[in-house]
Amino acid sequence: MANVVVIGAGLGGLPAAYELRHLLPKEHTVTLVSDKSEFTFIPGLIQVAFNLKPLSHVQMGLAQLAQRHHLNWVSGQVTALDTTQQCLTIEGQEAIAYDYLLIATGASLAWDRVPGTGPHGGYTHSVCTPDHALEARQAWLDFLENPGPIVVGAAPGAGCFGPAYEFALIADQELRRRGLRDQAPITYVTPEPYAGHLGVSGVRQARELTAELMQERGIEVIDNATITAVEPQTVTLADGRQLPFHYAMILPAFQGAQFIREVPGLGDDKGFIPILPTQRHPEFANIYAAGVSVKLAQPDVTPVPIGLPKSGQMAEAMATAAAHNIAVDLKAINAKPQVPTLEALCFAEFGETGIAYIAAPVLPDPKTGKRKRSYAVRGPWVVWVKAAFEEYFMMKIRFGVGMPWYERLGLRSLFGLQLLKDVSSSAKTAAPGSESLVG
Ligand SMILES: Cc1cc2nc3c(=O)[nH]c(=O)nc-3n(C[C@H](O)[C@H](O)[C@H](O)COP(=O)(O)OP(=O)(O)OC[C@H]3O[C@@H](n4cnc5c(N)ncnc54)[C@H](O)[C@@H]3O)c2cc1C
Repeated sequence: MANVVVIGAGLGGLPAAYELRHLLPKEHTVTLVSDKSEFTFIPGLIQVAFNLKPLSHVQMGLAQLAQRHHLNWVSGQVTALDTTQQCLTIEGQEAIAYDYLLIATGASLAWDRVPGTGPHGGYTHSVCTPDHALEARQAWLDFLENPGPIVVGAAPGAGCFGPAYEFALIADQELRRRGLRDQAPITYVTPEPYAGHLGVSGVRQARELTAELMQERGIEVIDNATITAVEPQTVTLADGRQLPFHYAMILPAFQGAQFIREVPGLGDDKGFIPILPTQRHPEFANIYAAGVSVKLAQPDVTPVPIGLPKSGQMAEAMATAAAHNIAVDLKAINAKPQVPTLEALCFAEFGETGIAYIAAPVLPDPKTGKRKRSYAVRGPWVVWVKAAFEEYFMMKIRFGVGMPWYERLGLRSLFGLQLLKDVSSSAKTAAPGSESLVG
């Protein structure tokens, strides 16, 4: 009987483990390994950093969830993977053998690429992990006592920009609310070619709506920017400009988890895992990957390098497909393999208003350079939908639900998004391993 091991209990890994548990008969074990004892709904961390909600609102204990939903939970960090022996090393514990592996370890943060960035030994804050958000919150409360210039942005190579826009615009709103905005000029510094690119070019109205909002709120934008170093109160750019700050929040470039970088042939030079459309690794037939840990190359050449964003909903769709395909492989279900469509929807909250960005799919057709659908829309409803989605997602996590049919139907009816589809009959008849790589 198989032991299916999922590494990482984030937005991809935990729903994948739930989906596997639903699909596989009891004789198979679903093991969930996580270096954190809590599940965290990462998009909620920005509100935590502004002291708008407690961290506990976006967290749930994994031990209890695993027990309730019949997962074998192992707490610890995976430090090594032996693909020949098919086992994992977890720091300070015995090795775990696997029959199938689903890697959903998200991003490891590459602070070392820009000296002076990051909350541990650097001078900038971050909202990428619960610890970072708590540290950013304390610094924000101190900053309100002694306001000054704010720099928000992303380092070269970053692929996640939505949270940086959210941070800059919520900072603006919070400062206005307190009558402090005139004491705190805000600068948004980004490697994106223009404000509103967000790592995905050509989304209709995205550039106009985002630039308009930044202008309305008096936020200076420096695009095509390469941050080269940060000192205690100064951000330095490659063109020599120096930006003073009292508070800075810079998103780093992402890379894959260290153990991935150490297994020959598992990941690319940055530790992102190449996948076939079914989420399976092209070389290791029993290894699947989902979420931010997969390799999806940025299709555009930009003056300053940037990555491709992998949204939470993309991570969940990839994870659901991977779980389904493992169940098909194990002959636990009689169904066609599935592939995620990578149709992306992102609700960005900007204070009392927000913008919904839709790119379907996120990777344009390589021949035509076009997508089926892509647009951005602005309105206060985005903020309400995002808040409702957070509550819904936490409820799913509590009840052990992956990506149910009604969620798929809702996204299809409201936004025309199809998250998963069956592998087409031609691909189905192709020999294993003959699917082409994604991205
Ligand atoms: C501040 C912020 C705001 C965001 N807002 C949005 C948003 O509004 N909408 C949206 O769609 N997306 C948003 N995103 C992106 C979204 O959070 C990610 O797409 C999503 O979390 C990716 O899921 P994942 O499972 O790949 O990674 P994660 O959710 O990061 O989960 C990875 C898990 O693996 C664990 N792990 C890592 N290495 C190991 C190891 N070696 N051993 C054991 N466990 C390990 C980690 O601790 C973590 O729990 C945001 C991201 C950030 C940082």
